[in-house]
Amino acid sequence: MFDHIECYYRPTTLREALLLLRKVGKRGRIVAGATDLVLQADRSTRFLIDITHLGLDYVRGSSRGCVIGATTTMGALEHSLAVRTLAGGILAKAASTCGSIQNRNMATVGGNVANASPAADTAAVLLLLDAKVVLASSRSKRKIALADFYSVPHQTVLKGSLLVEIAIPALPRGGRLGWSFQKLGRTETDISLVNAAAGMQADARGRIKWVRLALGAVGPTPLRARNAEALLVGNILSEDLLMRAGDAVMKEVSPISDSRASAEYRREMSGVLAKRALRECAAQAGVPVGSGA
Ligand SMILES: Cc1cc2nc3c(=O)[nH]c(=O)nc-3n(C[C@H](O)[C@H](O)[C@H](O)COP(=O)(O)OP(=O)(O)OC[C@H]3O[C@@H](n4cnc5c(N)ncnc54)[C@H](O)[C@@H]3O)c2cc1C
Repeated sequence: MFDHIECYYRPTTLREALLLLRKVGKRGRIVAGATDLVLQADRSTRFLIDITHLGLDYVRGSSRGCVIGATTTMGALEHSLAVRTLAGGILAKAASTCGSIQNRNMATVGGNVANASPAADTAAVLLLLDAKVVLASSRSKRKIALADFYSVPHQTVLKGSLLVEIAIPALPRGGRLGWSFQKLGRTETDISLVNAAAGMQADARGRIKWVRLALGAVGPTPLRARNAEALLVGNILSEDLLMRAGDAVMKEVSPISDSRASAEYRREMSGVLAKRALRECAAQAGVPVGSGA
């Protein structure tokens, strides 16, 4: 599959990697864990630049948020204390569902995001957490919102840059806060047919004051269900409100049919998973779901 590769580079500094990227231009590809790349090799690729020796495998948690290096593996995320205690552990949970142990020991979070699959399991969670990505080239370094990173499926604004790290800002504090990550796959180690992540905080009277809902594999890119969020905020959670939020999600998504599932099934399940996620958030936050009567 890679018999047309002329050179496999293994730089040991970010600067060296960025200079190499510039030198090889469009004929070069970045390789991290290679779990996606190995399926994508195209004959125009002549050079591979291995970024796993740049020292970008770190997780730095602080009161101001969390910064995760691009080559941190799913396995490392899954076991990191800082990630397990961040947002109810939903990022660790998403990482723990990315294929088999063998896959998770190779697959990196940067690769999951940069590959830009709408079904990428960490992407919906990172979107929900308002993550920003740091992109570098030999000429510039910039930090942009993950929401602005994706353009269409499998395309990003990377354009020859290297994704260096992912920054998650400080999250809402205080009580009555809940989080959830839900995934539907054919088997436990399969890619998502649909995934959903939610975060919710209620005030002392049980009124929802902050809510985030993000979904994957139901649109060209991972997406926020903003209409459903708008419907929920400021209201007391009830069965009726949950049902209306689920309906709003089903209207907001635009899934496709493929060999894994039909668009109709994905749409239906997006509503189911969104409601399931919101219920889990409510249970964690200690917020009862009223009958709505
Ligand atoms: C058996 C199997 C099961 C899987 N199951 C799941 C699953 O359940 N959920 C899921 O989300 N994914 C799953 N995947 C997909 C894959 O493992 C993940 O997307 C993984 O995180 C990709 O990371 P990687 O390091 O292997 O990326 P690579 O394959 O090395 O790279 C992927 C793409 O991103 C680019 N790239 C990588 N790192 C960077 C960077 N830092 N900056 C710029 N570009 C970069 C590469 O050039 C390439 O185009 C599965 C894959 C396999 C083979």
